[in-house]
Amino acid sequence: MDLFPYSPRPNQAEFIRLIEEATANDRHIVVESGTGTGKTVCALVGTLQAALRTGKKVLYLTRTNSQEKQVITELRKINERQAVFGIAIQGRQVTCPLFRRDPDLKGGSPEELSRLCREKKRKSMQDQPGGCRFFTETRLADHDELANHCRSTIPTAEEFVEYCDQKGYCPHELLKELAREARVVAAPYAYFFMPFIRNSLLDWMDVSLGDLIVIVDEAHNLPDYTREVESFQLSSWALDAVEKEIEEFGDPDVLPTASIRDVLVEMKRLIQEALAEYLIDEDGLIPPAFVEEGLMSAFTTSSRGLQTMAKALMEQGEVIRERKAQEGRLPRSYIHGLGGFINFWTSLDEAEYVKLIIGGDNPTLRAYCLDPVVTTSVLLGCGGSLHMSGTLVPLSEYRDTIGLPANTALATYPSPFPQENRRIFYLEDCTTKYEEMAQDEDMVPRMEEHVVQICNVMDRNTVVFFPSYALMDRFIGDKVLARIRRKVHVEERGMGQAELMEVVSRFKGQRDEGAVLFSVVGGRISEGIDFPDKDLEVAIIVGVPYPRPTAKQRALMHFYETKFRKGWEYTVKVPTFRKMAQAIGRLIRTETDIGAAVILDRRAKQFSERMEMDETQAPVNDLVNFFKYHTGKG
Ligand code: SF4
Repeated sequence: MDLFPYSPRPNQAEFIRLIEEATANDRHIVVESGTGTGKTVCALVGTLQAALRTGKKVLYLTRTNSQEKQVITELRKINERQAVFGIAIQGRQVTCPLFRRDPDLKGGSPEELSRLCREKKRKSMQDQPGGCRFFTETRLADHDELANHCRSTIPTAEEFVEYCDQKGYCPHELLKELAREARVVAAPYAYFFMPFIRNSLLDWMDVSLGDLIVIVDEAHNLPDYTREVESFQLSSWALDAVEKEIEEFGDPDVLPTASIRDVLVEMKRLIQEALAEYLIDEDGLIPPAFVEEGLMSAFTTSSRGLQTMAKALMEQGEVIRERKAQEGRLPRSYIHGLGGFINFWTSLDEAEYVKLIIGGDNPTLRAYCLDPVVTTSVLLGCGGSLHMSGTLVPLSEYRDTIGLPANTALATYPSPFPQENRRIFYLEDCTTKYEEMAQDEDMVPRMEEHVVQICNVMDRNTVVFFPSYALMDRFIGDKVLARIRRKVHVEERGMGQAELMEVVSRFKGQRDEGAVLFSVVGGRISEGIDFPDKDLEVAIIVGVPYPRPTAKQRALMHFYETKFRKGWEYTVKVPTFRKMAQAIGRLIRTETDIGAAVILDRRAKQFSERMEMDETQAPVNDLVNFFKYHTGKG
């Protein structure tokens, strides 16, 4: 507890000791720590004490900027007790003064921006036009003064970017330098789970993987995040972009029997055939050899010929990338992407991937990675890791899913806030179960009526969480908004982060009158926004958010049934519970918060052994009584 900067609350000393002992011995820990347990500061103190004893460094991985800021806030407190230097890193799309202000470049991948940056630095060093003035200024800067500034202030990433903006320096270049000295680096997940970025980071930190303790915050996100990292796709829009590249850069042959345009035409045809043959609702499983056989037959070639073709596409793409980088454009090539896709698709491990066709506006071929272990196995080589979240139970499921060893320590630290400050009710007369909704035409109107009544009686900030945008659209289409006599805000599909934050802040600002916010479970609001005090007092969950029975979902279930004999548990029950727990968890963020949730689905009671809840037949009355009991006002 030497580094702990506060008076410890119950369990915190034990929590820290557990972390320190495990990570000092290269072991792993999985912890569910409820709101108010002080998990950020405990994680930092425990891992830092281990790191200082053993000469390791700490990498604290976060999903959001606000979590990263919290890490720096706690680190500053620790630094007041004992000098410990740390930095917060963000990608070039956030830190680079050239890229973040350019709408075309801002959307570049880390690899593309790294390449463009390299080219600009080369030009600067050789005094050629098109270089980077921030890089030049940074080279001339007084680096000792900068390091002293950071040691004394421990800035957040945003503060450091602002500081560099004032001086005309490149934050990215300076952070690379400072990382060597830092005992703690806070960074987004990508800095560890994308191999290309991880290797650079280890280099900057001057540390081997075995000397790095990794903290994964909000770890319930990790399995899906890493599946996405390893998944690969080819969309119809990307093929349209191939067409444009051909017009600009030409159409060389990539096989004796095919030019790039021939491959493009055949891929478009295969997507149409896959849609016609295999799509059911939103996606469909396609036979493993469907694309290979289509291409081989179209171009009378062998599987080796396909590899040659993929390589030729990537080579042509490489020429395009190089030219674009030299011209200061985003070094992206869709022809390179097409070659990479064919190469990957025809050589992937069928045991770990499922091949899908996705419908919608932008039909897409997708190789979806079923097993997060493809990516997370790197954790086994590091000097211990800590995985924590407010919703991680059952811990053994998380451990198994990401492939941590059997001797991983598992621990639960419940929220110290009074349990009675939160009530959860569920209704028996509703469900979003597909078959029942299809048979009972009164089901949706009944749920709409419950939402309208609750919102009209409770003058408290209320979020209505839908399991999907489709159901939210149905409510809106049925004119539910007009029946609610309070200001209603809506989280719309594909909303940008700034726009979403604006909606949330308007909603929070109306807490005295009590506003309503329509949102979706599993989205940015239910998983990542804090609503302390009266910012949120009532949550309505419109149906238990079970995953839809898509081809992808069925493949996942089959994979976990085969691997652990727990297909339903690991791919349906646990993720559904976590989504609901995250949404309901928004209600209580401080010791004095009071909040109640109503789940409009009788299936909710299946989760009652993990989350205390009661049936209600009169939700409005029960809510009014709950708030009257706690606040004297219904
Ligand atoms: S050196 Fe810095 S400012 Fe210049 S392009 Fe690279 S990241 Fe951007």
